[in-house]
Amino acid sequence: MAFRKAVKGTVLIGGGAIATVFGLSQFSQYRNKHGTLVYVQAAEPVTVPVKNYFPTREQQLLTLQSTSEFDVLVIGGGATGCGCALDAVTRGLKTALLERDDFSSGTSSRSTKLIHGGVRYLQKAIMKLDFEQYKMVKEALHERANLLEIAPHLSAPLPIMLPVYKWWQLPYYWAGIKLYDLVAGNQCLKSSYVLSKSRALEYFPMLRKDKLVGAIVYYDGQHNDARMNLAIALTAARYGAATANYTEVLRLLKSTDPRSGKARVCGARCRDVLTGQEFDVKAKCVINATGPFTDSVRKMDDQEVPNICQPSAGVHIVMPGYYSPDNMGLLDPATSDGRVIFFLPWEKMTIAGTTDSPTDVTSHPIPTEEDINFILSEVRNYLSCDVEVRRGDVLAAWSGIRPLVTDPNSKDTQSISRNHVVAVSDSGLVTIAGGKWTTYRAMAQDTIDAAIQAHGLNAGSSRTVGLQLEGAEYWSPTLYIRLVQDYGLESEVAQHLASTYGDKAFEVAKIAQVTGKRWPIVGKRLVSEFPYIEAEVVYGVKEYARTAVDMISRRTRLAFLNVQAAEEALPRIVDIMGKELNWNEQKKKEELEAAKKFLYYEMGYKVKSDQLTDSSEISLVPSDIERYKKRFHMFDKDKKGFITILDVQRVLESISVQIDENTLHDILNEVDLNKNGQVELNEFLQVGEGHLILAEKCPWSHVRELCPLPNRDQPVRIFGQC
Ligand SMILES: Cc1cc2nc3c(=O)[nH]c(=O)nc-3n(C[C@H](O)[C@H](O)[C@H](O)COP(=O)(O)OP(=O)(O)OC[C@H]3O[C@@H](n4cnc5c(N)ncnc54)[C@H](O)[C@@H]3O)c2cc1C
Repeated sequence: MAFRKAVKGTVLIGGGAIATVFGLSQFSQYRNKHGTLVYVQAAEPVTVPVKNYFPTREQQLLTLQSTSEFDVLVIGGGATGCGCALDAVTRGLKTALLERDDFSSGTSSRSTKLIHGGVRYLQKAIMKLDFEQYKMVKEALHERANLLEIAPHLSAPLPIMLPVYKWWQLPYYWAGIKLYDLVAGNQCLKSSYVLSKSRALEYFPMLRKDKLVGAIVYYDGQHNDARMNLAIALTAARYGAATANYTEVLRLLKSTDPRSGKARVCGARCRDVLTGQEFDVKAKCVINATGPFTDSVRKMDDQEVPNICQPSAGVHIVMPGYYSPDNMGLLDPATSDGRVIFFLPWEKMTIAGTTDSPTDVTSHPIPTEEDINFILSEVRNYLSCDVEVRRGDVLAAWSGIRPLVTDPNSKDTQSISRNHVVAVSDSGLVTIAGGKWTTYRAMAQDTIDAAIQAHGLNAGSSRTVGLQLEGAEYWSPTLYIRLVQDYGLESEVAQHLASTYGDKAFEVAKIAQVTGKRWPIVGKRLVSEFPYIEAEVVYGVKEYARTAVDMISRRTRLAFLNVQAAEEALPRIVDIMGKELNWNEQKKKEELEAAKKFLYYEMGYKVKSDQLTDSSEISLVPSDIERYKKRFHMFDKDKKGFITILDVQRVLESISVQIDENTLHDILNEVDLNKNGQVELNEFLQVGEGHLILAEKCPWSHVRELCPLPNRDQPVRIFGQC
């Protein structure tokens, strides 16, 4: 009897809750239909004049050295630091920002690229009746709407599917997601909806069929994180902030406050990393926005201060686009072992990843083979058996460090804050830590509010809600058509330029080189399969890129999309940068090596090359295998474990054979069985069995002469014979 009552009660309460959510969501949808899709109430307009150019890095360094005192000096050029600089300068404060590496070289370029409110936090807020969590979600949803509004070229709504495997989960997830829409209110991007099993498979055909009962689709935002970070930095520079990358803070400067007699932070000793020159930057207020390095700067202020950062690392892998539909992500917020797993389309590829784990702080986090295999095994659980999830399909991988913090203002120093924390030390150092990409603007606003209060600065309220970022002002979804029509760019290139530079795409198009072909008229690609063009390298230098790594990872995103393609593009990138920055041959060589090292360790090239090669079926006799292995290593001189187009080109050059790049790509493509842009040893051995790869295509008899065949009746194979 008691059991029946309990069941009846649960059903009634559950049903009531669902009915309420349904009713409210319908009401919310009705309201939305009468308003704009996303609504952001803009702050007061900025009165500070905006430059129609941004100063060069060299001019910025001069300003940093010649200004007697800034109001605010921000340390760290990630999303948070650049957000602080923009907030401060648009309130009329004299602002400086120092970044020791490149803008966004830290966590801010290594995120999942989601602009999100945090569905999971909302679930926790409800389950635990935690109002703080609720407020955090509400704030993030507002910031999501703002970011989509202020940089529409770099961001867009993304539908995300939650697969449902148990019937009872369907109303539960649905109610949760509808509540997410509801909390967003008139800032809901698009309404969520339920899909039957067959519709879910229609939208996401590569999804595993068995056990699937249906799906729920909701919307969050997605962006190009490094470019967004750069857009914030460039906007701050246009408003007059003295921002410099490759400028490291070595220690904090202190002076004695005449009123209190206490030591106060009054600036920083810093070093131009590119020249080694050291100088002081003085400021009324110094802000520590160094993400995972929060504690190292806090200790520059006070050696004894306990650590607050509890870094945790998240690894992502990039796989070919066919692992997910073009415009639909997949996320399971609670796998059987409590983890999150996601795979999301991004820049025509698929990003997959899972929950973070604790780590040590380092400037160069490295994804391990174990991390990568773990993600692959998780991905396998979600995809249909028709989709063979292969290690060789991992085109790039990276690790990012999340700067989770305990609140130094709180008595409970153990519990990690899910929100951001602003703390002002006894000597006036303002630290901003924690939070997430999505909320960088709100974090910056809170930080500058605290700085104004702690240092008695003369400034009004924040102006950054609705303040458009670099490239947003004259951007429209059809801007790329003008690029095609006015400049003769390929449509794909034009779309890429418009969605990367916004209205500044015209400036890139103007400097694009003539191709010499009938079509496209201008815009030489850096690598054939990506729409990045050479003019972007020239423009990237104007946007403060100073190393080849800056160019392959944060001005273009090649390193994040395909390490081989990035490596292929490097020689040309270094040549163009060399011209722009007057590099000599030695410097060019160093840049090339440094960029290769970056790809090798930080972007997953090494783990790729460490792969086992004995897993595939190869029916060669052992002596053949040994012979082919030897040949393989002649091509793979750097012992990467695979052959790229560059290796083939090098060997061809050594035997004075000229072959055009497109033909080489075709050849590589045929040997490259898993289509990942490289030939691994197992592929090499498999084709070593006998297809004709080259002889039909190229007049290569002289190569055959140079590389005698073991059996003249066998067809010629480029990789097998030299
Ligand atoms: C794997 C992963 C996925 C994530 N995904 C998302 C997501 O999808 N959506 C989301 O909203 N958030 C996401 N986040 C969180 C988000 O990326 C971070 O919260 C945010 O990027 C942190 O930015 P930051 O500016 O605080 O730190 P960083 O970007 O790390 O910037 C700190 C900067 O300080 C510089 N610095 C350090 N010391 C000095 C010094 N002495 N002098 C000068 N400069 C110095 C560093 O070089 C660095 O560039 C993710 C985080 C991780 C780890």
